[in-house]
Amino acid sequence: MKVTGFVRKIDDVGRFLLPFELRREMGISEHDSIEIFTHGEYIILKKCAPACVFCDGTEDLEEFRGKVVCGECAAGMVGKAGT
Ligand SMILES: [Zn+2]
Repeated sequence: MKVTGFVRKIDDVGRFLLPFELRREMGISEHDSIEIFTHGEYIILKKCAPACVFCDGTEDLEEFRGKVVCGECAAGMVGKAGT
């Protein structure tokens, strides 16, 4: 684990600012989703990578009717069409 030196206060409604330098370093942009984990006394934040709604795969993704699907699952669906 790397010490960043950043300290932030939580505001009245529980928000805090994720420093710009960290967002840039971690490739986090406005409106990205962040997944929150805990480990003992630690709160761990992770950028949510888009994943296939069927298999959680992150390779060869495409969007279909607002859902993210990987190429393999999309190919599997084609075989089931009309059945
Ligand atoms: Zn898939």
